[in-house]
Amino acid sequence: MATALIIGAGGVGRVVAHKCVMNNQIFDRIILASRTLKRCEEIQSELPAGAIEITTVDADKTEEVIALIEKYQPTILINVALPYQDLTIMDACIATKTPYLDTANYEHPDEAKFEYKLQWARDEKFKEAGIMGLLGSGFDPGATNVFCAYAQKHYFDEIHTIDILDCNAGDHGYPFATNFNPEINLREVSAKGRYWENGEWIETAPMEIMQVWDYPEVGPKDSYLLYHEEMESLVKHIKGLKRIRFFMTFGQSYLTHMKCLENVGMLGIEPVEHQGMKIVPMEFLKTLLPDPASLGPRTKGKTNIGIVAEGLKDGKKRKIYIYQVKDHEECYAEVKSQGVSYTTGVPAVIGAKLMVQGIWNGQGVFNMEQLDPDPFMDEMNTQGLPWNVIEMEC
Ligand code: NDP
Repeated sequence: MATALIIGAGGVGRVVAHKCVMNNQIFDRIILASRTLKRCEEIQSELPAGAIEITTVDADKTEEVIALIEKYQPTILINVALPYQDLTIMDACIATKTPYLDTANYEHPDEAKFEYKLQWARDEKFKEAGIMGLLGSGFDPGATNVFCAYAQKHYFDEIHTIDILDCNAGDHGYPFATNFNPEINLREVSAKGRYWENGEWIETAPMEIMQVWDYPEVGPKDSYLLYHEEMESLVKHIKGLKRIRFFMTFGQSYLTHMKCLENVGMLGIEPVEHQGMKIVPMEFLKTLLPDPASLGPRTKGKTNIGIVAEGLKDGKKRKIYIYQVKDHEECYAEVKSQGVSYTTGVPAVIGAKLMVQGIWNGQGVFNMEQLDPDPFMDEMNTQGLPWNVIEMEC
């Protein structure tokens, strides 16, 4: 039996709280802590009385997180606040010897650049504290890393190329909205693209490379090359890899709005002077856009996220596609959330479950592909994220 301390009561936090309750044979005490109590209260009200406890914390302050951990003595801390809080929360886990899990890698609020460097740098401290830190246990990163490890373990002697293909064909009826935190989403999408080939990172202009991919159960969609954080760890851990790329689908309306907002400076993260006040354009835009959590009841359609890997098995060429399809309305019916939060929150709970059961264990910080993929893939099938694998022509 385990106590789960969840930090962050946003779209993903809602799914994690619901799913921990559904797994209460493992998590017999669940605490949801976030910056704004009202968000925690909303989630608490959706669940059976007494199912979760709620409280506030400012996770930008390590001392506050330490005090929270000391109060509740969790078996595991599940960080689903924003990437800005990763380091403060990791430091609190080191100080209190508490196992740690997150779904997105650290990003500095003043610099739109995410990388594992500062989280990997805490590996020694996690080892000294005798605890495990699991990085990026969402869908991508997360399940996609596990798909790569699964492909490596069962289908290939060597993987030469990987394309990660992320399609959200959901329609929420708004001309423009983001499916998760707008600031994080727009920073990611408006940044330069990057992929890795023959040991080097190759930079592209934002949205420069596009391919049409036919997603099973969804159909053909324009898919744009972006930089995405799981590539940083996969190039280290997948043997024989020669190229890895990441593609995400965007509709024309989304891209037109984003370009226009960018052109007028609304995606800026530097403060600007406005009527005697300093405001950050991106933060102001976040205030104007629909709250991602409000998209749940409106979103129809499916997500399909997967990987295509190509390489060698027993001296012969092989190509496989592992993917997962999820229906937005089904997610809402189950946990009052749309598919993007669902497909992130469920892998977080699976990772936490495997950690507290000791099935995934170790000391130090780990990316998902470093662990045995089989128990995670089995859990996906029973926790609402069944997946498929198909052989493709090389
Ligand atoms: P939201 O913006 O909906 O929720 C974030 C929550 O964190 C909010 O409740 C917010 O509080 C809380 N929070 C922010 N700052 C603090 C703080 N200093 N102290 C305590 N709580 C804080 O984001 P999402 O739920 O959509 O995303 C959560 C995480 O999941 C993000 O890191 C995101 O990058 C990641 N993600 C990962 C994906 C993957 O596949 N790996 C995909 C999608 C998201 P408040 O309510 O007061 O604003």
